[in-house]
Amino acid sequence: MAGPCPNHPGLEATHQCAGCRRVFCVNCVVEMGGFIYCGFCKNRAVRDAQTMVEYKLPGEALTYAIVGIFCCGIILEPIAIIKGMRALGEIKANPQLPGHGKAVAAVTIGVILLVVNVIAVIVRIGLVSQMR
Ligand SMILES: [Zn+2]
Ligand SMILES: [Zn+2]
Repeated sequence: MAGPCPNHPGLEATHQCAGCRRVFCVNCVVEMGGFIYCGFCKNRAVRDAQTMVEYKLPGEALTYAIVGIFCCGIILEPIAIIKGMRALGEIKANPQLPGHGKAVAAVTIGVILLVVNVIAVIVRIGLVSQMR
């Protein structure tokens, strides 16, 4: 016997919320992604889902890394590394965030390209000094 719904004392509580584990009547719950939520937890779940979608940092980092392949690598790759590292830290703190692969790729590309760019600059300086 589950007892009455906290919101509807006349109705029997038959559905347990996947968020807060409280039991409600069928009128109080909604199904989302295969889970049953009460109104309060549904709002929270929707907000969490939006945060996931809006988490763009790994994608941004990867964009900087890729654009940096073609131009301004010496400036863009450090930005890609910084953004990628920050994304990795945030994903580590909150493993539900998406984009781990992108963040890793951004940091990897960033480091490689930065090394390549630095070598290119050194070679160029070397050539210039040889010409003198
Ligand atoms: Zn709930
Ligand atoms: Zn109810």
